[in-house]
Amino acid sequence: MKTCRYLIVLLLLASIITFAIGGCSNSVQEAGSSGDSESPKPAETSPSQNAENESKVIPAGTGAATLPVFMYHYFYNPDLGETSKDANWMNIHDFEAQLKYLTDNRYYFPTWDEVIAFIYGEAGLPEKSVVLTSDDGDPSFYSMAAPLAEKYRAKLTGFIITGVAYDGLIDPYISDYITFESHSHDMHRAGSDGDGRILTATPEEIAADVQGGFDYLGKKDVYCYPFGDTNEAAEAALKANGVKLAFTTQSGPCAPNMDPLSLPRMRMSEGTSLASFIAMLGN
Ligand SMILES: [Zn+2]
Repeated sequence: MKTCRYLIVLLLLASIITFAIGGCSNSVQEAGSSGDSESPKPAETSPSQNAENESKVIPAGTGAATLPVFMYHYFYNPDLGETSKDANWMNIHDFEAQLKYLTDNRYYFPTWDEVIAFIYGEAGLPEKSVVLTSDDGDPSFYSMAAPLAEKYRAKLTGFIITGVAYDGLIDPYISDYITFESHSHDMHRAGSDGDGRILTATPEEIAADVQGGFDYLGKKDVYCYPFGDTNEAAEAALKANGVKLAFTTQSGPCAPNMDPLSLPRMRMSEGTSLASFIAMLGN
């Protein structure tokens, strides 16, 4: 009888141990499979992990002399058999190498409010500061670039054409790392002279365009000219309607007290090496 009780206790212990081992191996498998996923999940953050995103604004005139604002467009993954269609297509592995370099080297990703204060000469930014932007809201922005930016905790702005239906794409990526700003509401097409529509639009049409972006995004501080096209009339119309920063496709870093409505960017093209990217950072 006693032996029988011992046997029952032993059997119970054995089944508990088996269950525990089974549970562990299952959880390891789950963690591994999510880590291998082609589309990385948004990074889990805690206050200490997120320390690099705390504001690092410093007094005006100190820190970075210039601020590189990188301009991307579309992304492709050669592992999926995708190829570059033109120079605007960035190999997603090159993009990931750039993000890894920035986070490994503790670059600071300022908010747009901080960039506005920097350009207007009201505040400084750390020496190693950088802004990442991607134009046109291509599906590859959402499927490839945005998840990687979240994985590396790098801020990335999508300049989107708000008159295009983005429903179902934007909402999942409202996060600490992904933001959206206007690449016009309905100006991303040719105007009467064949160039970008903003060049021949009336002040009223540009005002309506700024309002369209505002209605969609709920903000209008930052604007990105379609095709980089701008002129004095377009700048004046944006200024009159409360836009604080507007980007062209002119090449170069931004600096305090530049014309805030005609700001340059650093174009990222297919085949840009990591060494070239690092050189373009400027520090
Ligand atoms: Zn564009």
